[in-house]
Amino acid sequence: MESALTARDRVGVQDFVLLENHTSEAAFIENLRKRFKENLIYTYIGSVLVSVNPYKDLEIYTKNHMERYRGVNFYEVSPHLYAVSDNSYRSMRTERKDQCILISGESGAGKTEASKKILQYYAVTCPASEHVQTIKDRLLQSNPVLEAFGNAKTLRNDNSSRFGKYMDIQFDFKGAPVGGHIINYLLEKSRVVHQNHGERNFHIFYQLIEGGEEDLLRRLGLERNPQQYQYLVKGNCPKVSSINDRSDWKVVRKALTVIGFSEDEVEELLNIIASVLHLGNVQYGGEDSGNACITSDTQIKYLARLLGVNGTVLTEALTHKKIIAKGEELMSPLNLEQASSARDALSKAVYGRTFTWLVNKINASLAYTDDSYKNWSVIGLLDIYGFEVFQNNSFEQFCINYCNEKLQQLFIELTLKSEQEEYEAEGITWEPVQYFNNKIICDLVEEKFKGIISILDEECLRPGDASDITFLEKLEDTVGGHPHFVTHKLADGKTRKVMGRDEFRLLHYAGEVNYNVNGFLDKNNDLLFRNLKEVMCMSENKILNQCFDREELTDKKRPDTAATQFKASLAKLMEILMSKEPSYIRCIKPNDSKQAGRFDEVLIRHQVKYLGLMENLRVRRAGFAYRRRYEVFLQRYKSLCPDTWPNWRGKLADGVATLVKHLGYKPEEYKLGRSKIFIRFPKTLFATEDALET
Ligand code: ATP
Ligand code: MG
Repeated sequence: MESALTARDRVGVQDFVLLENHTSEAAFIENLRKRFKENLIYTYIGSVLVSVNPYKDLEIYTKNHMERYRGVNFYEVSPHLYAVSDNSYRSMRTERKDQCILISGESGAGKTEASKKILQYYAVTCPASEHVQTIKDRLLQSNPVLEAFGNAKTLRNDNSSRFGKYMDIQFDFKGAPVGGHIINYLLEKSRVVHQNHGERNFHIFYQLIEGGEEDLLRRLGLERNPQQYQYLVKGNCPKVSSINDRSDWKVVRKALTVIGFSEDEVEELLNIIASVLHLGNVQYGGEDSGNACITSDTQIKYLARLLGVNGTVLTEALTHKKIIAKGEELMSPLNLEQASSARDALSKAVYGRTFTWLVNKINASLAYTDDSYKNWSVIGLLDIYGFEVFQNNSFEQFCINYCNEKLQQLFIELTLKSEQEEYEAEGITWEPVQYFNNKIICDLVEEKFKGIISILDEECLRPGDASDITFLEKLEDTVGGHPHFVTHKLADGKTRKVMGRDEFRLLHYAGEVNYNVNGFLDKNNDLLFRNLKEVMCMSENKILNQCFDREELTDKKRPDTAATQFKASLAKLMEILMSKEPSYIRCIKPNDSKQAGRFDEVLIRHQVKYLGLMENLRVRRAGFAYRRRYEVFLQRYKSLCPDTWPNWRGKLADGVATLVKHLGYKPEEYKLGRSKIFIRFPKTLFATEDALET
């Protein structure tokens, strides 16, 4: 038989807290590598699950596996998503406390796959009745729909989620799922009108074109060739080998029906999707005057029909801007550039709002209806973008990284709090842990009046010469001295050569990121010309009718900017998460080529840093590396001491005390709490484990 020692050499430790040298990043990565080589993609840091994307089917998600983890103590089985899922479920049931599972990691690391597997676990293992079966089906079917409209092929991931998602699963007192609710965050709307080389638009466009029935396409005025559509050709990537758009179309169509869409609603939805494609094909010609005009009315005819709007009014709105001068409304002509950006703004607004409508519609179908389910408990799943650091970082990365700062803040508060609470509950003296509190960075971004978002909003609202560069200058004036903010300007008036004049750098908790300010104002304003809004408000399409509210036109108040809306939705998210008991899944992508078996150390080191895993381990190790309930500890090691073998008859605590005394544990190596033993160093435990083997 292989000794415990050599097994550890080969497959590493299943909990990083057991690493001898817990401060060494090299040891951390070596442990990951060993396990990855053995197809062991899951490892714990205490109760945090670290997962490495295997990029192959490991057959570890079968029904048998689900059964193996069901109702079993977290630490008695090898690390797995199902252990985390089951643990949350049981805590919810026994402690009646709402749970949440937070999944983070960079694009392609496996967040969405993890969240789907967790949902499947609950769908399969939780009790069901007839009503519950419908809800389970709808919960599961919401994924293909949201992925069709919210995911796209990017350079990093063939099925990349271009929105953040928080989903509550509601359980009744018997532990059966009876409802759900989804909140979406910051859809990447710019993708509707532009894609980088090698990337695609949202899946739904290709699914519809490839899979849509002949007469459907005829009704929508679409050709079965994505290359015909300006919004689909930018990335020069109509087909993806890992994706079958035609069969995905069938899946999505069916899912829409399961969720409860009527035929009419599906038709209205597809009218909108087709309209976006037609909008993209609206071509402008400039008259000599430089004013834009629409050169062919083919698209306008389709648009008028599909959107249920007046073609002439739409044409005017796509080429003019309504201004109010001396109390009079005037139509001012747009030049070519302005007209194309007005058209693109309309496409983005229509798509973005339809996406939100879709989420609301799914929510309505997941809403529990029976009063007897009033006392439900909740498990929330958060699948949200991880830290992004690209060559060129813009407004989107700024928002995403701000979101990660907030999540880190939550993590610090909740982890340290729960460590502290556990020590207190067990009657063990709490030893404070030193850690970097990133609140200072959150404040830098979000503080009222002097945070970056406030300054950005101020520039967005300021009439006159406000521009991305004046925004940067204001930042320098206001937060220039902040320890986490850097620009090319040095305090002595000289310039920092390594930084562009249109950049600012934030020293995030996970590392530094340079942001280019170009486009910040436009993206934050996210404006749609008033007359385009008016046209949409007149639409006979029932979905658009709900998306564009007439009140928007009468409301004198400007709508909140994109950053302010995002800030508010994050604040709400924090509130939701704070009220729950969290579990964490940290996903890692092993290589950039989506290949099985390749472990790219440089890439992984980067992620270990940005996920804050070493800090996480340090906090966890600061006190006691290892803790077990008395009965679990005694059960496992009782054979090592004649007094506890075959059974200890007295109090559990006394049994453990007798056992560890016999094993020669020194007083500084462990502490006995009310129901658990706390062991300070991994080596103590290893020696005991090794003794078991001999
Ligand atoms: P994004 O931020 O771009 O949405 P993500 O973290 O959600 O990325 P996923 O879409 O979950 O990434 O995973 C990317 C791909 O990696 C999947 O399409 C699948 O091919 C593979 N993959 C992820 N997790 C697993 C797993 N546990 N087993 C096998 N393959 C996986
Ligand atoms: Mg995803």
